[in-house]
Amino acid sequence: MKEKLLKEIESLDADGKGTIELYNELSGAVMRNLTFTPPAHGEKAAHYLSIEYLIGRMFYNNLLELGILKETEEILRRKGIDASAFEQIEDAALGNGGLGRFAACFLDSAAGLGLPVYGYGIRYRYGLFRQEFSDGFQQEFPDDWQSFGDPWSVRRDGEARAVQFADGEVLAVPYDVPIIGKRVNALRLYRAEKNGAEDRISEYLYPADDTEEGKRLRLRQEYFLSAAAIGDCVDRFVREYGEEFDRFGAYNAIQLNDTHPVLAIAEWVRLLTSRYGVSFKDAVQTARRTFQYTNHTILPEALEWWPKRMLRSELPEVYEILRKLDASQRRAMRRAGATEQEQAALRISNGDAFSMANLAVDICEHVNGVAKIHSEILRNSLFRTACRYAPEKFVNVTNGITQRRWLMLCNAELSALIDRCIGTQWRERIEGLEEMRKFASDGRVLAEFAAIKGEKKRQLSEYIAKREGVRLLPNAIVYAQVKRLHEYKRQLMTAFAILEICEKLKRGELPDFKPSVFLFGAKSAPSYRRAKGIIKFINEIAKAIAEDDAVNRRLQVVFVTDYKVSYAEKIVAGADVSLQVSTAGLEASGTGNMKFMMNGAVTCGTLDGANIEIAERAGKENNYIFGASVEEIDALRRGGYDANEYLARDAAMTRAVRTLADGTFSDGGTGYFSELYESLTEGASWHKGDHYFIFRDLPDYVETLLRINREYGTEEFTRKQFVNMASSAYFSSDRSIAEYAANIWHLR
Ligand SMILES: *Cc1c(COP(=O)(O)O)cnc(C)c1O
Repeated sequence: MKEKLLKEIESLDADGKGTIELYNELSGAVMRNLTFTPPAHGEKAAHYLSIEYLIGRMFYNNLLELGILKETEEILRRKGIDASAFEQIEDAALGNGGLGRFAACFLDSAAGLGLPVYGYGIRYRYGLFRQEFSDGFQQEFPDDWQSFGDPWSVRRDGEARAVQFADGEVLAVPYDVPIIGKRVNALRLYRAEKNGAEDRISEYLYPADDTEEGKRLRLRQEYFLSAAAIGDCVDRFVREYGEEFDRFGAYNAIQLNDTHPVLAIAEWVRLLTSRYGVSFKDAVQTARRTFQYTNHTILPEALEWWPKRMLRSELPEVYEILRKLDASQRRAMRRAGATEQEQAALRISNGDAFSMANLAVDICEHVNGVAKIHSEILRNSLFRTACRYAPEKFVNVTNGITQRRWLMLCNAELSALIDRCIGTQWRERIEGLEEMRKFASDGRVLAEFAAIKGEKKRQLSEYIAKREGVRLLPNAIVYAQVKRLHEYKRQLMTAFAILEICEKLKRGELPDFKPSVFLFGAKSAPSYRRAKGIIKFINEIAKAIAEDDAVNRRLQVVFVTDYKVSYAEKIVAGADVSLQVSTAGLEASGTGNMKFMMNGAVTCGTLDGANIEIAERAGKENNYIFGASVEEIDALRRGGYDANEYLARDAAMTRAVRTLADGTFSDGGTGYFSELYESLTEGASWHKGDHYFIFRDLPDYVETLLRINREYGTEEFTRKQFVNMASSAYFSSDRSIAEYAANIWHLR
C-alpha cells in the first residue's frame, strides 16, 4: 500500500495549483488507498461515545501514522512545494478542551495498538469559535472549518438513520473519519439533517462544558448522538449475531465519555424493548454488562441534571424509560436496605430532574476517574454512597496523551535525539523511552537537549511573531499556561503573581532576575463574564508591561489568540515551565501537563490531578510543586475560609489584587474588573469570597516562580527538564488504552 500510495503522490500534477487544492488532492489520494477495519467476526469491540473530539490537523498525523511523512515531504520538495505550507489549513476544533482532546488521543492510541475501538460523535458544522482580541477583549467568530474542504471523511448515506423527537424525525448521516494505526478504525461523526438541509442539532458545538445556555438544544444534541450510536451498534450486532442480546456484552463494550452521552443507556432499553421485544428487566441486565462510564469532572455545574419537563416534551418515550429505571432502582435500593439519606444520594430521579451521573453510576459496570487523586475523590466523596454498595465498580485509569502527535510530530528534533541515544524501538513501544533516564548525567546529551529546547523556542517565537505580531524576548524563560479559561484553573492567580514580580523588579529587589515570558492561551465560554474579565485583565497587564521601559526587557506577557491543537503543538515544544495551578481537587487530571512533560518542561503546579503522578514519576525534586493539598482545601472550606484575612497577611498580594479595583487598569466600562474584585473579597450569592483559594496559594506561587527563575540556566535545571521528558512514557495514552482494554472492556 505504501509503495502504491507514494507512486500516486509522485504522479500528482502540482503545477499551478494552490495550497488548498493540493492539500485536498493529496489527502484524497491517501483516502482512496485506505480501507477501514471493522471488527472481525467474534472479535470484541469497544465503542466510544463522546460529544467532543478535538482532533487537530489530520494531514501530517495521518502521513506519520502511515509511515510516509518523510517520503512525501521529499517528493513535494522535488516538485518545489514546501510541505509546511499545509499548516495554513486550519484544524477542525470539534471540542472545547481537555475532554475532547483526550477523546482524540484515546482513539489514536487504540488504532496504534491495533485494538477495535470505534468513536461516535457529532459532525458540527461550526467548531469551537475562532478567537480574536479587540482592545484586549475576546471576540468570537464562527469556525468555518469546512472552507478548506473535508477530504478526511467519507459520507455514508446508506447508513443514515432516523432519530425520533417529539416534534418529528431528524436524519443522522454518518461521516467516517479514519483513525490510522496498526488498523484503520472509524470515527463516525453524525450530521443532522431534516428535509435534506442541515438541522440545528449539528450546527454548533456547545461552547462550554459548564454553562446554562441553549439547554434544550444541548439535550437534543446529546440524545441525537446517543440514539444514532446505539442504533448503529445494535444493527451491527443483529447483522452479525442475530437477536440474542444477552450475548451483546460478549462482543461489545460501550464507553460513555462523561455524562453527555448517558442517555444512551435509556435509548438502549427503549430500542430493545420497543423494537425487539426484549423485556425491560433483560434489557437492563445486558446494559449492566455493556456500559462503562468515565467521569471527567466533579464541578457540580458540569454534572448534568435534565429537567423532567424538558425530557417529557422533547423525548416522551425516553422520559418513560427513565421513570421505569428510577422505579426499579428504588426497589433495588429498598431490598438492599439503603437508608432514606443514601437513597437520596443515589437516585436517578431527584425532585423535578433526572441525574445523568446517578444513572451512569447505577447501570455502568465500571466507573472510572482519570487520575489517581480524582478517582479517590469519586470514591470518597462524589460517589461515596454508591461506592459503599459496589466498591468493585470504581476504578482508576489515569489519562494520557499520544506521543505520536505530542512528541514525534511536534518535536521531530527531540525525537531524533532520542533515536540517537536509544534507537527507534521506543517509537513502537513507548515504555522504551524510560531508557533515556540513563543519559540524565551525560553532559553531552544534556547540552544537545538544551540546544533543541532553544531551537524549539526560536520556532515558537517565529510562529508567534507571524500570528500575533510580537516577538518573544530572546533567550527568555518561557512559562506557559495554556488551557480553557476557567476560574478553577486560576489564570487570575498567575496574573497577580506577574504583577507582584513586576513590582519587585521595579523596586530593584530582583537584581539577578532572568528575562521571562509568561505565555497564555485560552478561550472563554462566550457567556462566562468572569472568564472574559480575566482575559481582558491579563491583556491589560501585558500592554502595561510592554510599554514600561523599566521592566520590558526582562518581563513579557503574551496572550496568544485562538489557542487550539496546532498552537499547542508549538507551545509545548518550546516552553520551559508548565503552569498547572488549579485549586487542589478540581482539575480531574489535566492532559496539557503531560504534553509539556513529554517535551521536557518542568511542572510548576499544585497537588492536583495528574500533577501528583507527574511529580511521583519524575521525582518531586525535579518539579516545582506548591500550595494547599486537597485535604487542606477541604479543611479551609469546612472551617470557614476568610479570604480577606488571608489577603491582609501579604502587602504585595494586596497591592496586586487591588489593581482590579483602584483604576490601575481599565476594563473599558464593562464592570468586569470590579466584579472579579468582588468575587474575591465579598463573594456572590452562590459562594464566599475567593471561592478558588487564590489568596491561600499566591504567596507560595510567587516564591516558586522566583525559585525557578534562580535555578534556570544551570545544568541542574536542564537535568530536571530532561528527567521529566525521560519519565513521561507512563503518560502515553497507549498505556491508558491498554488499561481500559484489559481492566474495563476485557478485549481479547
Ligand atoms: C491538551 C489541550 C487541552 C487540555 O489542557 P489542560 O491543561 O489539560 O486543561 C485544551 N486545549 C487544547 C487545544 C489542548 O491541546
